[in-house]
Amino acid sequence: MAGNRTFTMIKPEAVASGNAGRILDAIMAGGFKVVALKLTRLSREEAGAFYEVHKERPFYGELVDYMASGPIMAAILEGNDAVASFRVLIGATDPTQAAEGTIRKRFAESKAKNAVHGSDSDENAAIEGAFFFSVREQHA
Ligand code: UDP
Ligand code: MG
Repeated sequence: MAGNRTFTMIKPEAVASGNAGRILDAIMAGGFKVVALKLTRLSREEAGAFYEVHKERPFYGELVDYMASGPIMAAILEGNDAVASFRVLIGATDPTQAAEGTIRKRFAESKAKNAVHGSDSDENAAIEGAFFFSVREQHA
């Protein structure tokens, strides 16, 4: 059965451009409940570990530099079939391919600076959420 939690980050360029509030609003309007939330930042080492699965891809170095370049907003979200339905709400990785009205279509600058992260499985949602939030920071 699909789980009811996913993990997201509002990425550095979206926080820097002042869109974090609008993106959070779109997430909540999209039917998700925010159960954990913080403004934080990743070291280069942490960003490298977070995106380790992509380490052989040509964009890895730039991705790691970018994700460590400034504050991010991390959140755990609750909703029906959360991982899959959140990926629908954010749209395709490349905003030029993202459906109208999706968060990436509305707020992403480019395929690399694409405004938000969304977990790709229940297992990774749990790992990513636990990386940023203690149990006491996660609310029902
Ligand atoms: N990315 C990139 N160039 C690419 C593909 C991905 O810079 O050609 C970046 C982009 O920020 C993306 C992240 O790497 O969100 C992780 O890629 P993934 O394929 O997991 O996309 P996502 O799950 O974020 O849609
Ligand atoms: Mg991914």
